[in-house]
Amino acid sequence: MAKGLYVHIPFCEYICYYCDFNKFLINNQPVDEYLEALDQELASYKMDQLQTVYIGGGTPTALSVEQVEKLMQIVSRHVPVSQLKEYTVEVNPGDVGEEKLSLLKAGKVDRLSIGVQTFHDTQLNKIGRGHSAEEAKETVQAARKSGFDNISIDLMFGLPGQTMKDWEETLDEAMALAPPHVSAYSLKIEKQTRFYNWWREGKIAPLPEEEEADMYELLVARLENYGLQAYEISNFARAGHSSRHNRIYWQNEEYIGAGAGAHGYINGVRYANVKPLNHYIQAVQEKGNPVQSTHPVTRKEQIEEEMFLGLRLYEGVSTERFYQKYGCTVEDIYPESIQEAKQKGWLAEADGYLFLTEEGKLLGNEVFTLFLLDEEPENN
Ligand code: SF4
Repeated sequence: MAKGLYVHIPFCEYICYYCDFNKFLINNQPVDEYLEALDQELASYKMDQLQTVYIGGGTPTALSVEQVEKLMQIVSRHVPVSQLKEYTVEVNPGDVGEEKLSLLKAGKVDRLSIGVQTFHDTQLNKIGRGHSAEEAKETVQAARKSGFDNISIDLMFGLPGQTMKDWEETLDEAMALAPPHVSAYSLKIEKQTRFYNWWREGKIAPLPEEEEADMYELLVARLENYGLQAYEISNFARAGHSSRHNRIYWQNEEYIGAGAGAHGYINGVRYANVKPLNHYIQAVQEKGNPVQSTHPVTRKEQIEEEMFLGLRLYEGVSTERFYQKYGCTVEDIYPESIQEAKQKGWLAEADGYLFLTEEGKLLGNEVFTLFLLDEEPENN
């Protein structure tokens, strides 16, 4: 049963140099047709058990005021919004004013995720963002003024040319805004991005790994100082403000993905929608269904994913929930790996949770390979 809904709005005012998401420059795009197709797609899902909605992209706030209003109406038509425990919309600095914020508020959105990335204008420029640091601050203030307290700020580190001092300043600027949640990711140079081409041409170089590790260390320490605890590798929150929607992914629960290129996981099947805009609109209009590929998840994959995703959370994997889901204990499935990881000091267990130790977190993939299974585990 799907607990979360992800809605993809694939339009942006500008294209950032590092971004490999499914997105299109908004100018001259069939945005209204897209919203109508979304309306039709959402009508095909069962939503009565939904707990969270996350509208991301792209940039949902790149839509016009009328289109934001339409989007809010579409979601409210299909989703029991008053029963939701969390309703997030991604916002880019500079493209929301009072009007759009009021529409989000009226649509019962209760959480904003604001894409700040860095508080240095030169770096914003270098990564192709279309806003200034000042606009990022103004957006946070405008959001507060419109009644949004539950705000998350997205940051990036390991940017070409970024120094420790720059990063420290960005963290301090972010903390001066006192958001209850921060997500911070290191730059990854992905294919089909400008950065990838520039990297191949030798025009940019990622920061050395050690420097990036130092930046991560600073991130954890600095945010902790301000009362934001790491609860997942890249996510930090004050008590009670961790992301409920993302928790659905990390706890390997099911969710609906709607929109061009969105991914979902329903009734044991992972699926992906078609990515190109026109194909998406056409598929919905003609078949009522934009799904391009499906993958029934085997028990082996489900258990492996349970461990990989769950161990990203600092609290770890609940042994009780594991037993309820799979009818056996984690040790039944991984008799040797659990012991080995504990002996090496990578894994610990307390209060019904198996979690990575500090050393385990640093090793990351090496620990995760212990939880790959050679064959399908027996069905208990
Ligand atoms: S990072 Fe966000 S704003 Fe930039 S291109 Fe990607 S989706 Fe658009």
